[in-house]
Amino acid sequence: MAAACSDAELVGLALAARGNAYAPYSRYRVGAALLTTGGRVFTGCNVENGSYGLTVCAERVAVFAAVAGGERGFAALAVAADREGYCRPCGACLQVLSEFAPSLRLLLADVRGDFEVKTVAELLPGAFRFPRGEGE
Ligand SMILES: [Zn+2]
Repeated sequence: MAAACSDAELVGLALAARGNAYAPYSRYRVGAALLTTGGRVFTGCNVENGSYGLTVCAERVAVFAAVAGGERGFAALAVAADREGYCRPCGACLQVLSEFAPSLRLLLADVRGDFEVKTVAELLPGAFRFPRGEGE
């Protein structure tokens, strides 16, 4: 198991992940770093497309990479953009995060690496849950 990653280190990884962003349309580069409960870190960046609706945010890229890597337990997610103000996930990303970790700690960073801490449930109260029948 990898050594635990501090909040500041996770934010640093999110800031660094911005460098891989493919954002020729918005020029809004975002990076994310997702820490698993086992101590692994998966990073993501936004990947835009000329067909705008196909664009995927950095947060979901990180989650999908982690799930593809066999991880489903998440401890914290850092998100950073290259503009002023704390970077907050969009509703779609919050819904995806809620599927795996409704109480996930979110480290929402600004361009200097300062960050505020929120949870997924705080930013997306009443998230959608797929209704499951008895015995499932
Ligand atoms: Zn998003």
